[in-house]
Amino acid sequence: MTDAIVEISGLNKAFGRLEVLKGIDMTVRRGEVVCIIGPSGSGKSTLLRCVNLLEEPNAGKVVVNGFEMTDPDVDIDRARRTIGMVFQSFNLFGHLCVLDNLTVAQRKVLKRDKDEAESIARDNLEKVGLAEKAGSMPDQLSGGQQQRVAIARALSMQPAVMLFDEPTSALDPELVGDVLAVMRNLAEEGMTMLVVTHEMQFAREVADKVLFMDGGVVVEEGPPSQVIGDPQQERTQTFLRRVL
Ligand code: ADP
Ligand code: MG
Repeated sequence: MTDAIVEISGLNKAFGRLEVLKGIDMTVRRGEVVCIIGPSGSGKSTLLRCVNLLEEPNAGKVVVNGFEMTDPDVDIDRARRTIGMVFQSFNLFGHLCVLDNLTVAQRKVLKRDKDEAESIARDNLEKVGLAEKAGSMPDQLSGGQQQRVAIARALSMQPAVMLFDEPTSALDPELVGDVLAVMRNLAEEGMTMLVVTHEMQFAREVADKVLFMDGGVVVEEGPPSQVIGDPQQERTQTFLRRVL
């Protein structure tokens, strides 16, 4: 038995001749928050996309919630249902109101009836502080509110793990805090989370483990007090000097 929710070993990914991931090993255990930091172009998004097979690895093994994603026979739709993903761009359905954004996949994919889907949706809107916005259209919301809706939508599928790819990078600075607060609450509730972020304060306070990536490899990993507070590798030190 293992309590690993995400287990990655020997992961390689290339785009043509460009090797982007060069042998990544990492584990996210149940209830853990793992933050990935590193310079632009280091392969962070590609790694996250390999977790739910939005990108197909060239080599290595990815197991998520018991599904071997890299097995050609995996039931990928079932596997993906256990994974929530939140992107930098919120990707809401612009023609649907907030409530419908939260119920459409529940009904289509999970076959929940309208009442159940709406009840779960409203609970999750409440959780992200947007209960009163159920009837709004996405373009009536601020970027921070849209991102909180995107989080609530992912949560409504009741995933075993949430992946976040720089969820606050597209936001005006004054809207970042509300989104991070929602993520912090999720972490406190015990959600398993894999988060690519440039928010060092968040990583420091919320992460159980931080990975510093550069050039397609994990250069350094450990508790935030170590990787951010007292980095041992030259490349980590240089990166942190630039962002802190
Ligand atoms: P990060 O998220 O750390 O900024 P990415 O994973 O987005 O890095 O990108 C890593 C490298 O892979 C970059 O050089 C990027 O240009 C390249 N890359 C990413 N996606 C593709 C793709 N679909 N086709 C070709 N190159 C890509
Ligand atoms: Mg990226």
